[in-house]
Amino acid sequence: MAFDSLSEKLQNVFKNLRGKGRLSEADVTTALKEVKMALLEADVNFKVVKNFIKTVQERAVGQDVMSSLTPGQMVIKIVNEEMVNLMGSETTEIAFKAGNDITVILMCGLQGAGKTTTTAKLAGKFKSKGKKPLLVACDIYRPAAIEQLKINGDKQGVPVFSMGDKHKPVNIAKAAIEHAVKNNHNVVILDTAGRLHIDEDMMNELIEIKENIEVFQTILVVDAMTGQDAVNVSEMFNNKIGIDGVIITKLDGDTRGGAALSIRAVTGKPILYAGMGEKLTDLEQFYPDRMASRILGMGDILTLIDKAQAEIDEDKAKELEKKFKKSEFDFNDFLDSMQQIRKMGGIGDILKMMPGMGGGQLKDVDIDENALSGVEAIIFSMTKAERGNPDILNTSRKKRIAQGAGVDISEVNKLVKQFEQMKKSMKQFSGLMGGKGGKKGRF
Ligand code: GDP
Repeated sequence: MAFDSLSEKLQNVFKNLRGKGRLSEADVTTALKEVKMALLEADVNFKVVKNFIKTVQERAVGQDVMSSLTPGQMVIKIVNEEMVNLMGSETTEIAFKAGNDITVILMCGLQGAGKTTTTAKLAGKFKSKGKKPLLVACDIYRPAAIEQLKINGDKQGVPVFSMGDKHKPVNIAKAAIEHAVKNNHNVVILDTAGRLHIDEDMMNELIEIKENIEVFQTILVVDAMTGQDAVNVSEMFNNKIGIDGVIITKLDGDTRGGAALSIRAVTGKPILYAGMGEKLTDLEQFYPDRMASRILGMGDILTLIDKAQAEIDEDKAKELEKKFKKSEFDFNDFLDSMQQIRKMGGIGDILKMMPGMGGGQLKDVDIDENALSGVEAIIFSMTKAERGNPDILNTSRKKRIAQGAGVDISEVNKLVKQFEQMKKSMKQFSGLMGGKGGKKGRF
């Protein structure tokens, strides 16, 4: 996922901070210098980094922090809070018109940003919330885009309105709204044409639509892989046509992720959703607090729980949430949830959301679906008592388990180590996740 490298670097800085009983101002300055470098290397906007470090520095050398019993933890807490603030502190939802009035949403962005895919992803989200969306193909320059929207609309069970490529986008949009009224749709999503670069024609086309149609939300789609360009594009679209929010795509990829940290601070407009893959379900609501905790290696248990609630048994998910919060889960729960986890996508991605498991720790662990079966075999070879109380796993027990599972003892050690690390991280971060936007005591 994005941020792996940033996350790894920040966690190293924090490890040093946490290890110190007392902190001098110089310690904080050194640590923040490293944080600054890490952010710049992650392609976070220079001005944003400068302000961020200044704010953290001011707060971190304050009397309360330096004289506290755990100054290192306090500094980490401040970094976390300020990172949440940077991304907007509050989660912003796409707004809908009241009652059953039609909400028109204009989707815009450069070609290849993921606009058409994201449009279909959004339609699916709206549908599952009980809305009746209509997708509209306004990209008349790329016939393939119309076809792509139709295919994706089909997959989502959402109708697509199109008039081919011989009409002006503004006229297609007008006709689509009439169609929506007749067919009781309450959300109309316009998929407009992108270009490879910002150009006048594209902007004029969007302005023409906005001048002739009552667009309720203008949403820009940007590609996280383009780094600072995504930030510049956001600024330009906002200045030219005015946007209400941004959806940042391809955060699943190997991007440095700086755009996600800069867009809100530079444009003043919130990130609404994050595209996390090519599948039409790979769109996550953007929660600044959860994103910050993911970046800081504190994991993202809440998104994990959301996924669980959407795709697995609700009672089981609640149970899991309770255990996560209390750091009480054992190998029985691990095994129990594993069957459910299979339904929720790649195990690697899921583990990365766990505290202490992001930021590159997983690189040498090589987790894939086959590894998952190996893990299962190991847990199956444990006795009930061992699963319930992993602390009793001494060498002879581990040897027996390895034999039973047909794996090397090092595999058993690796699993137990990961498990312990996860529990330890949860304890460590417990109570740390405050912040303006966050809720206390989440873990
Ligand atoms: P458009 O030109 O802006 O409409 O872009 P498309 O919707 O055609 O997407 C361009 C490419 O990006 C396609 O191959 C999509 O599958 C891919 N894509 C879109 N969103 C994401 C995402 O969140 N993650 C990944 N990995 N790929 C994405």
